[in-house]
Formats: sequence, structure tokens, C-alpha cells
Amino acid sequence: MLLTHRLFLPYAACFLGTLALLTVLCFHFPEQLTSQELRAVYTADFARATLLVGLIATFVLGTAAVLRDQSRPVALTGLAAATAAVLLGGTSVEVGDFEQTPYSLGLDWFVLSLFFSALVFIPLEQYLAHRQTPVLRNGWRTDVTYFFLSHVFVQFILLAVTASTSTVAARVALPAVSDVVGAMPGWAQFLLAVLVADLAQATLHRAYHRISTLWRFHAVHHSSRDLDWLAGSRIHFVETVLTRSIVLLPLLVLGFSTAAVNAYVVLVGLQAVVAHANIGVRFGWLEYLIVLPRYHHWHHARHVDYWDRNYAIHLPLVDMLMGSFKLPRDGSWPEEYGVLKLETVPNGIVAQHLMPFSSRTTYDDYVA
Ligand SMILES: [Zn+2]
Ligand SMILES: [Zn+2]
Repeated sequence: MLLTHRLFLPYAACFLGTLALLTVLCFHFPEQLTSQELRAVYTADFARATLLVGLIATFVLGTAAVLRDQSRPVALTGLAAATAAVLLGGTSVEVGDFEQTPYSLGLDWFVLSLFFSALVFIPLEQYLAHRQTPVLRNGWRTDVTYFFLSHVFVQFILLAVTASTSTVAARVALPAVSDVVGAMPGWAQFLLAVLVADLAQATLHRAYHRISTLWRFHAVHHSSRDLDWLAGSRIHFVETVLTRSIVLLPLLVLGFSTAAVNAYVVLVGLQAVVAHANIGVRFGWLEYLIVLPRYHHWHHARHVDYWDRNYAIHLPLVDMLMGSFKLPRDGSWPEEYGVLKLETVPNGIVAQHLMPFSSRTTYDDYVA
């Protein structure tokens, strides 16, 4: 279905051409545009090989789209971006030694994350969808913008989070507890970290739903009318920093190892994407053990019975403990997603970021 769709060739060419151009910019300005932590994970040769595949694919798909007269302006944009990438040096840009600047953008993180997420989830959602939704559904531009900003400014988000948490964690040291946690094997620390973090996350998440001032920020996340792998990116910046800080705090205070905390951070990134994905596979008993799409989709249901349910992002056990677990046994899915009062959340990332600060009172109706 995906491959026969008229928009596939031009938009795939535009997508890959744009990413190719951004990759070449990363090669030219690594100290400003790439993140030190991520560069430790991949090699320049890997980036060059991926870039080469992307460039070839752009020229093949873009040319095919133009010849077939499918969305020519979009296809030509992709071809122009790929041509610019080649003219700027393409795969042969030399990256010499460079001084790391104190602050840098995560453009490489954005390119790699978007490319591989799209590569995995777009085909999965086309073939295993619980609901047939076009890839370019309403609001996709808004969500790509959220995705872009949260990846490119990752270092600044982390700085804001660690600045607030490390100050508090330094004052609230619990050496007796940290000794016990530190003596546990790595896998046990990881499992306990997931449970502790999810309890903290779910408690805060319930507060977002029950306190009207907090709801205004969280309503942005619930404004998506279609859920897919990209929809979970729609989170107000204030919520991102507040949630990450509150969740990280107990992990630091209780003395979990850096490895356990890092493994948790990888899991939360992955599970947040999976939980929103439009994947209709029946997982049976596993749905009661770990949070899977149907579980979190019910949290997003535009249904009054579910506005206060399924807060966990890792373990349904957390909601069972908090009395907020609710999952239909018949395997059914919500009929509709979004906030109850649709008019309360505007469209677009700028309006959505200003919305919580507006004095209009209609915005907090969902809580009442
Ligand atoms: Zn929520
Ligand atoms: Zn969500």
C-alpha cells in the first residue's frame, strides 16, 4: 500500500534529500552541530555510508516521481537538497581534529533518530496498523517540528534537567539507601530504576491531569487526533523539563549507577515511541506486563471514563498500585483521540507553547 501511494516517491525523496543535506552540514561544522556523546556511538565511516545510500535513493526516487508527474515541487525540493549536498562535498568532506565547543546542537541526533525511526515505524504502521491513517496525517508538520527541536536542543534540555536535579539531589543524600542500591547487580538496578522512575512519572502524570494549571501544559500532548510513532513528540517544553527532572531526581537520590540510569534513558526513549505507535498487534498477557500501544492509546482516548487512567509509561503494575489501571479485556481500541474540548488547544507549536500562559479559562475544563 505504502509503495503504491502517489505521495510515496516525492515525499521519500524530499525526506532523504533534506536529511542528506543536513548530514553534509554536520560534516562541515561538527563542533557546532553534532553532539559529543552521540559521536562516541557512531563512526564517520558509518555516517558516510548511510549518506551515500540516502543520496542514491533520493536521486532514484526523486527522478521517478518527476517522470511520473507525482507532486513535482516536493520531488524537486528533494533533488535540489541532494544536489546541494553533493556540491558541498557529499561523502568526501574531510573531518579533521576539532575543539569541542562547550555548547553544541544535536543535529546528528535529529538526523539519525528521524531516519531510523521512520525506517522502522512507517512500514510497521502501514502493515500492522490498528487504524488506517496516512503517513502525512493532520498535524504531521507540527509533530516533526517538535521532534526536530527536542533533538537539536537535547544538550540544553539535559542541562536544564541536570541543573535542577543535581542541586536538589546533593542536599537530599541517602547514603544508607545508596549503599544498598549500589551493591545490587546491574540488571536488578535497572529493573528497580524502571519501577521507581515509572512511579515518579505516573504520580506527576496524574497531577498533570488533576491540577488545572498543569493540565494546560499537558493538554498539548493530548491534542493529537491521530496517534502514531511521531505523535508522542508533541510535548510542551515546560512539561519536558519538569517531567525529566522529577523522574531523574529519585534515581540520583537513591544512588543508581550511571549505567542503570543510562539504560533507563534509552528505554524511556524507545518505549515512548512504541506506546504511541499505530500498531494493532494483539500482545495478549504481555499487555498487562509492559506498556504497549493499546495501553497508552486508551490513555489518549477522547472518553470521559479514561481521562484519569493508565498513567504508566513502562509498567501497568504502577497503575494497578495507584488504582488507575483500566484496559478493555476484549482487545478493543479507542474510537477517538484528543482532549474533550477540542477547541481548547490551538494548532501549531508556537500557539501551543503560548496557550498555557493565556488567561482564557476554557483551557482547564478537561480537569473539571
Ligand atoms: Zn496524560
Ligand atoms: Zn502519550
